Amino acid sequence: MGQFQINLWCYPWDLVDEGIDDVLDRLRGEAGVTGISIATHCHGVDQLRPHAGVSPHRFRSRGGAQFQPDADAYLATRFRPVVAEWLRKSDPWTAISEACAKRDLSLRAWHVCMHGSATVDRYPAGAVKDVFGEPNPSWLCPANLDVRELLRAMVADLSGRFPFEAIELEQVGFPGGYPPRAHPMAGFSCGRSGDWLRTLCFCESCRQLAGRDGVDVDAAAAATRRHLERVFVAGEPLDVPPEELTADEPSLSIYVDWRCRQVASLVQHVRSACRCRLVIHRDGDRYRGGADYSAIASHCDALITVCDDETPGRLEAAVAQAADEVGGVDRVEVGLSACTPPCVDSAGLVAAVKKTAELGVRSVNICQYGLIPEKRLEWIRQASRYARREV
Ligand SMILES: [Zn+2]
Repeated sequence: MGQFQINLWCYPWDLVDEGIDDVLDRLRGEAGVTGISIATHCHGVDQLRPHAGVSPHRFRSRGGAQFQPDADAYLATRFRPVVAEWLRKSDPWTAISEACAKRDLSLRAWHVCMHGSATVDRYPAGAVKDVFGEPNPSWLCPANLDVRELLRAMVADLSGRFPFEAIELEQVGFPGGYPPRAHPMAGFSCGRSGDWLRTLCFCESCRQLAGRDGVDVDAAAAATRRHLERVFVAGEPLDVPPEELTADEPSLSIYVDWRCRQVASLVQHVRSACRCRLVIHRDGDRYRGGADYSAIASHCDALITVCDDETPGRLEAAVAQAADEVGGVDRVEVGLSACTPPCVDSAGLVAAVKKTAELGVRSVNICQYGLIPEKRLEWIRQASRYARREV
């Protein structure tokens, strides 16, 4: 990869509503990007769309699969892709693929894996369940075999039919790696470990498979319940980091290790069906989300580390950590944002992209076409010009 790559994240409905050719002409000409990364599967959105003439300005969708599945690809799976309602019977991917090829823009799939209420509603048996047995309304369990087969089949289906340069998997692990997008009400704080314990999945799949692997799930569940009930009764946060809590709770520490193995083996399973490069979004860690990126690294082509924090030194640290996990900066990509917050002007974005290039990274993704006012395409163009000069 010699040339510096700048991809813009994009929702397919924004392309379709604004006109695929018009948008791609604008991205090529005004933003100077080398590619786009378009959602193939996502969680629900309630999006303010600022672009001229786009209708509606407030777009709402329950999310789901952003493509029409090829039925033959799912003959062996019990779950099927839940197609987003806005698509009805249409499928924009042939038109998108051809329009990208015509303009020499690379095309990526941006696949949000476990976070998605549309799929959980259709297949409640696949949901994450907390220690009290209560289902998570928007998160599928990555240990559930039907969930795993569905994800693998979608990746095989997409990479087999369309000329993706890469498929990016986001939120491929358990919940907890990301700040929640919606804020459920609570009249008190559970603290860092309290919040973390609430994310732990004890669904039937986790209980059965961990038990099969020799993990004492009942002991891990008992410890989880004991700590949470104490927090609920006292109303006092359990604010030690999970790393500290688990040092005194061997059953939880073993359960954390088992969860990490589940996520890494899922990525390995998906990769065996993927016919293009596989790129994993780096979110969370061994505790939050169950993601051990050093283990995941051997099953993917690159890690994207999202850094939407302009604090000095933060980008350098994020790139160094990801490079350490994947064994080299040549397999690190960086995600940045042109949205406010964090980005307030072109200078911040230019500085971040320039710094990324100086660190030896050769691929940046920027968030996100449909969310930013059109004027900011100029910010992206300036950033890409500086980065190319740096390389
Ligand atoms: Zn589970």
